[in-house]
Amino acid sequence: MAAKRVAETDEPLSRRVVPRLFDYMDSLSDKKEKTVDLKTPEELYDIFRDAGIPLELGGATNGKPGQEIVHPDALCKSVDLLLKYSVRSGSPMFFNQLFGKAHDVSVAADWVATSTNTSAYTYEVAPVYTLLEVEVLKKVAKVIGGAFADAHDGLFVPGGSLSNLYAIHLAHHRADPELAKRGAVGGPRCVAYTSDQSHYSYLKSSRLTGLGSDNLVKIATDECGRMIPEKLEEAILKTKSEGGKPFFVGSTAGSTVLGSYDPFVAIAEICKKHGLWQHIDGAWGAGAMLSPTQRHNMAGCELADSLSWNPHKMSGATLQSSLFISRHRGILEQVCGTKAAYLFQPDKLNANLDMGDKTIQCGRKTDMLKVWMMWKAQGDAGMARTVDHCFNLAACFAKTIRDDPSGQWELAYEPSCTNVCFWYVPPQLRPFKFATASQAQRDALHQAAPRIKSEMQKQGDALIGFQAVNGRPNFFRMVFASKDDLDNADVVALLGRIAALGEKLCSDIVVN
Ligand SMILES: *Cc1c(COP(=O)(O)O)cnc(C)c1O
Repeated sequence: MAAKRVAETDEPLSRRVVPRLFDYMDSLSDKKEKTVDLKTPEELYDIFRDAGIPLELGGATNGKPGQEIVHPDALCKSVDLLLKYSVRSGSPMFFNQLFGKAHDVSVAADWVATSTNTSAYTYEVAPVYTLLEVEVLKKVAKVIGGAFADAHDGLFVPGGSLSNLYAIHLAHHRADPELAKRGAVGGPRCVAYTSDQSHYSYLKSSRLTGLGSDNLVKIATDECGRMIPEKLEEAILKTKSEGGKPFFVGSTAGSTVLGSYDPFVAIAEICKKHGLWQHIDGAWGAGAMLSPTQRHNMAGCELADSLSWNPHKMSGATLQSSLFISRHRGILEQVCGTKAAYLFQPDKLNANLDMGDKTIQCGRKTDMLKVWMMWKAQGDAGMARTVDHCFNLAACFAKTIRDDPSGQWELAYEPSCTNVCFWYVPPQLRPFKFATASQAQRDALHQAAPRIKSEMQKQGDALIGFQAVNGRPNFFRMVFASKDDLDNADVVALLGRIAALGEKLCSDIVVN
């Protein structure tokens, strides 16, 4: 008799799970639901064990039996528990990260992509997906404008960090054409530049590409976190005078903490003058290009050599939806291609459409469907509306802070993108002005945000990140991403709850 592979049941598990997902998604817009039902790792192990579906996969070690077949009822139970104890990133009160609620259309597209289960490397196994990728990239190129609209190359990639890696990788090979064969040893000392507010993926990329962190120069930023072009040019000239080869500027559209947009036009001029590749890391803030009213933040983006954008952040596509695009047609295959004979046979049908040799990976998810379907479902106007709503909420939040006369709020930075960085100031520390505050006052204020955050986490109230940057004590970073379910009244009410918690939890903070 053949071994039984799964427990006997009439119904495929997916049919039992999907209705649970509909219920879950319906519950996300309920403003009374907690953002998280916080548990310790030990508690989670106990909860799953008590429900009859322990987290451990039984192993056949020390003579004990291995993992037994689990009944579908128990698997459904595990899904229920997983949904209950996962962080509800789709909650209107989730502000912890640069993503938020998954758009319904994107969830549907993801299910489709999962069900068709294919890889976006060849037309042969992904005909429609291949064409959709071409079309989405074409649309994005048009939105960027300039030379991108005439010619471009691009890919959906697994995340903004990888997108930035592609940019450095391509630019590096362009600057040093022997690199692919010779390797970095014996070649020019290539040097890249990013701002001191840029994403840490540039540092990782400098290691991965063999540049080394010594050859990734951090450029100072102004009071809003924007790269200072004069400092960039100084650094380029310094590298040249030392015999190095400047080749790449990683500029940022919407820096992760402050939301700052670098001055792209000024940077483009410097890059042109000195022959550098300009990349724009717009993982977070490039969504502004979709909105006629916010497009000005991206002024000059069409002059760059390449750009990253994560539709899974502000626009509400499901994780992950990230794209890399360059205005240099053919560059991806030129640099990344290896012509693997088993996959990319030149003499098979439609081989010219294969995307797979452009990548640094092999198999690749069909992420383009989500963005294509969202764009079709919402039109340009809908894509812009999501972005505008996030910017409007941020403006309302910042205005409430500015207009409050009590001194309980202070902006840590002038807001950019949809990031509002602010302090709650306990009564005994008011008025707090960073520029004139003593170190002791700053140290005291540093304690406030973590106290408030952990209490909000325990209560399942809003999840908001905090951090200390450039010597500024811990401040909250409020970010608005995919916030269609949130309105101005919610935002004002949230500030009220933070203030109430602050009064309660911070009264014993003293200035030493
Ligand atoms: C989020 C972010 C990234 C990284 O994107 P992942 O998709 O998380 O890898 C890069 N740069 C900026 C500015 C970001 O905000």
